[in-house]
Amino acid sequence: MVIFSRDSGVLSIIERYIVQRYCVCGKRIAGKRHLCDECVAIYGARENWPEWLRFWVNDTEREAKQESRINEREITFTDLGVY
Ligand SMILES: [Zn+2]
Repeated sequence: MVIFSRDSGVLSIIERYIVQRYCVCGKRIAGKRHLCDECVAIYGARENWPEWLRFWVNDTEREAKQESRINEREITFTDLGVY
């Protein structure tokens, strides 16, 4: 997805890639979920997760955030040859 936003002479182009998520068991999962159906059935709600699972999820979330930050960049009008 490409988002254009124009403010104070800078055109920001922010590309947000949909980061593929994987469950702790290795299955691909869709959207913003952290676990697949089977693992939800096993581990239940987040507050009931064992320590290692919380740690794993926090760690993968941090990685995903870092990845999306790298994909953000700013292009000035000078770069585009507008001025
Ligand atoms: Zn799973």
